[in-house]
Amino acid sequence: MFPFGMAAAILSILTLGVGIPLVQGASLADIPEGQWAALNSTVNGRLYAAAPISRPCFPNAGSNVTGNTDEGECEAVMQHYMDPETRSNTFGAFMNTEWETCQATSEQCLLDFTNPANPAAFSPPEVCAQGSVPRYYIDVSEPADVQAAFAFARSTGVPLTIKNSGHDYSGRSSGADTLSLWITYVPSFVPEGCDASKTAAAVTFGAGVTQGALYDFADAHNITLPGGGERSVAAAGGYLQVSPDPWQEIIYGILMTAAAVVLREEAIDRALQVKVVVPTGEYLTANACQNTDLFFALRGGGGGTFGVVMEATTRALPQTPLPTVLVQLSGTQSMERELLDFLATNAINYAQTGWGGVIAPGTGMVFTNPLINMSQAAAEMASLEAFATNQLNTTFSLTLQPTFLSLFNEFLLPNGVPVGLPFLATSRLIPADNFQTDSKREELLDNLIPVLDSALPLIFAVAPYYFKDDGETSVTPAWRNSIWHVTASTFWNYDTTLEQKREIYANASSNMDALRDITPHSGAYFNEADVHEPNFETSFWGDNYDRLLQIKQKYDPDHLLDCWQCGRFEHFYHARARLGFLLWVTVTAKYHHEAGVSLDKHTLFAALEKVVYAHPVLACRLQATGTSHTTPPVWVRLPFVDLNKLVEFRDEDSAQLETILETLYAAPAPSVDDVPPWKLLVLQDGTLVFAYEHTIGDGQSGMAFHSALLSALREASLSSVAEHSGILSKFPTDVALIPPLEDRMDVSVPFTMLVRELSKGLLPTWLRKEVTAWTGNPVPDAPTYGMSVHLLHYSPEDAKQLLQLSRSHKTTLTGTLHTLALMVLSGLIRKLPDADEYTSVPMVVPISLRRYTNTPPIAFCNHVSAYSAIHPLLPADKGSDATISADNFPWDLAADLSATLKQEAPYSGRTIGLLKYLSGKYDEYLLGKLGKKRDAALELSNVGSFPKVDKIQPEGPTEETNLDDTWRIEQVYFAQANPTLGMALTVNVAGAESGSLGVSICWSKSALDEAFGQEFLAGFKAGLHGLLGSRPS
Ligand SMILES: Cc1cc2nc3c(=O)[nH]c(=O)nc-3n(C[C@H](O)[C@H](O)[C@H](O)COP(=O)(O)OP(=O)(O)OC[C@H]3O[C@@H](n4cnc5c(N)ncnc54)[C@H](O)[C@@H]3O)c2cc1C
Repeated sequence: MFPFGMAAAILSILTLGVGIPLVQGASLADIPEGQWAALNSTVNGRLYAAAPISRPCFPNAGSNVTGNTDEGECEAVMQHYMDPETRSNTFGAFMNTEWETCQATSEQCLLDFTNPANPAAFSPPEVCAQGSVPRYYIDVSEPADVQAAFAFARSTGVPLTIKNSGHDYSGRSSGADTLSLWITYVPSFVPEGCDASKTAAAVTFGAGVTQGALYDFADAHNITLPGGGERSVAAAGGYLQVSPDPWQEIIYGILMTAAAVVLREEAIDRALQVKVVVPTGEYLTANACQNTDLFFALRGGGGGTFGVVMEATTRALPQTPLPTVLVQLSGTQSMERELLDFLATNAINYAQTGWGGVIAPGTGMVFTNPLINMSQAAAEMASLEAFATNQLNTTFSLTLQPTFLSLFNEFLLPNGVPVGLPFLATSRLIPADNFQTDSKREELLDNLIPVLDSALPLIFAVAPYYFKDDGETSVTPAWRNSIWHVTASTFWNYDTTLEQKREIYANASSNMDALRDITPHSGAYFNEADVHEPNFETSFWGDNYDRLLQIKQKYDPDHLLDCWQCGRFEHFYHARARLGFLLWVTVTAKYHHEAGVSLDKHTLFAALEKVVYAHPVLACRLQATGTSHTTPPVWVRLPFVDLNKLVEFRDEDSAQLETILETLYAAPAPSVDDVPPWKLLVLQDGTLVFAYEHTIGDGQSGMAFHSALLSALREASLSSVAEHSGILSKFPTDVALIPPLEDRMDVSVPFTMLVRELSKGLLPTWLRKEVTAWTGNPVPDAPTYGMSVHLLHYSPEDAKQLLQLSRSHKTTLTGTLHTLALMVLSGLIRKLPDADEYTSVPMVVPISLRRYTNTPPIAFCNHVSAYSAIHPLLPADKGSDATISADNFPWDLAADLSATLKQEAPYSGRTIGLLKYLSGKYDEYLLGKLGKKRDAALELSNVGSFPKVDKIQPEGPTEETNLDDTWRIEQVYFAQANPTLGMALTVNVAGAESGSLGVSICWSKSALDEAFGQEFLAGFKAGLHGLLGSRPS
């Protein structure tokens, strides 16, 4: 039964080490019950809540974990804990149990694989946690189920995962807080003409069919359907989608050789067909004649990426007897090197004559060849026999295996890779070049032997080399030149600590470096690769990567199958920061303690711990994913956050704040991999400068930071903090990143707006209005740094008066300040020597969209857009040249602006929607602005009043709490810097909790002459004093 009461959402963690990609979709808890019920009814009641397989053994379970303790069920789980069939048939189980585990926190529900009955793993205080087992799944029975899931994901933002047998070594089939599609689809298992006399027989099977079922079926029908070494792997799941793979190529390749030679079949007969529901909702057939791009992508592009495969058709091969050679070693180091040396010397010859198989270092080798009969095999392997018996003094046997299944049962099945434990693999393809000469082979063995010192080293020999690329597979072309595929693996247990796991991952990854170094143009096998594979795009797909990306964009334009990517806005900000255009956003607040207590390091760290745990984005960075910058980066959660690296205690106080900010803006922010993109400067008088990249939040997010910090400081428990190391790692699992803007509101662009925006680029320059607009000095030819920063502070009384004045004239503070800036600027432009050339001033006002995305002011996100307009220069009689006062102020203009902003706000998300039409080409777009006219003269950004300080909660209703107010914030300043491409001037406004108002006026040194900026500052200040009448601060 499907339970509708849901607990909080958890972060999805897909990999560990340098960083952990996060799901950035909607929190499951946000989805109204009615929507779940509707989905459940659409999929005919096949929507289920999932629990980890070991749940029945644990008396204690997390509040969001369904299921109960049950002794009988626990007994069964223990008995079959390492059985692949059981794991494949249980939704809450994955073959490698690190993918049932939340890798950032180690929260899990695992047994001790060395002794599943060991109570230490599951008795209190151990708690069964959901880990990265998806919370809900649909048992997929028909294409319509998948279509319903895509529609649901699109409308709710809930991220999807696809699980078939759960073998994925990189955890791509699990994911916390996701809705999973469990592929158990087995339509009628129809052989299409499987009469062995027909040479091009084919078999169609559903995506839930296992390889073992295919082997049995084939054997019973005198055909061969070769596959991998593990029966429970799904035949049309992730395995097929990275075809050709080593096992398949070894066996399949060899059999194909037989087919080609003996039966005279040509490559075209290998045509394979895949039926797939793509994220756009269509159910498509992909083969060599239709949807060929999808067909190409599905053959090598990777599972779970282009759609959900429902069924596949593969060509059936005739049954072929297999002469098979076995050499067994007793396992000394020198024998291993000698045997490898012999095999490496003969590797190219074997590859060319149809021999292939598996070399298990230290144990021996199994090779087979379907092209020849026993006597030919004996002749061809005579040298190996002589070498094994005379030089290695070991056993050699040559037997005839009547069918593929007998080969599989005899040699592969008993030596299967273990499951039910945390296990990782790494991989490298060794090209023929590395076998060509004595010195090359020497180099290969010198580098290979240390790599083989792993838990389960294996070398798969030969087959991809035999078959040249038919242009229909998207796997890296390096496959075709490779003679050996080397894998090395390692494992650990339920009680391995997070630190130890990190080390295991790092060592496993660097262990393969020796082979990477001597095969610089090669790659790795996607399905058995290091989760931290360096340059993975090239390594897995080589030159096919860019084409795959285009196909991905075509079939999954909304990225439903890679929900962990960031939103368009974050991608855009990321590009701006990466190119050195966008510097820190800062929100500075001056903290004051009633009793004069100063903010010591440990109290601050304890408070920051609460803030970071409440806002997961503060422990994340955006990480690029592709060689091309058009690919959206992914959110990566850092395994830990070291506050000592982020918090700087300074000798200065707020009197030097302008200089401190100018110094921050004198250079681009350094990009450091192991720290999130923010920092906190602590000044002597309690002033805290929170500086952050725009990728993690808009201006209001800086206010949210101080609101959360104030709340944390006010919690009584903090008053007695003795010591804090500054290391944060136990991130809560029940808070998610705030979804990107486009997932929370409609940002689609009406056609008329699109045409208008496009026409801006098409119109001749002399026809465009901006030609006569003043926007300061043009954008320089290269990124530039250096800002002038000036801070103005207005008391709560002044702020109140300005607000009242604005309200009484039917405008807002933003309307008033914007109009004042326009007046001052108009006056200055009119005094310029080339004043005649200008008739207008383009201005920009950012608009918060949080009220439309239902996101409170205390959240971290980029839910902001902007209103832009080109204003005619104000005439001198509008007061700009005279002393400004409330009496001569153009209130009508201010009221008009406020009304326009109010009217435009609900639609201003469309500006962000326009980003879609850049197709991720933000670098080109931004670099294209160098040397051109600036977009606008002025940006006026008002982040509003200080958010209500409540108990920290990133989203949702705030709780009534009894926080004391010993800590207060007296002043707040908001500042931002986009010195290269930004507006000539920015005026930023923020309210403090005390009610005071902070205004920062900033200009890029390259955009404005200092004298002009100073005159603007003086004019703006004087204007505000004029408006305040008798009450200047
Ligand atoms: C014990 C063990 C032995 C293995 N032996 C071999 C071997 O001999 N040869 C070999 O080449 N590989 C082997 N592998 C690797 C295996 O082939 C891959 O892990 C493969 O991706 C498993 O596919 P699956 O669909 O069964 O698994 P899953 O983990 O369920 O899925 C793997 C990936 O494919 C996606 N996917 C699954 N079904 C579909 C579908 N219907 N449509 C779209 N996407 C889907 C998933 O989202 C995920 O990204 C082995 C792995 C293990 C753990």
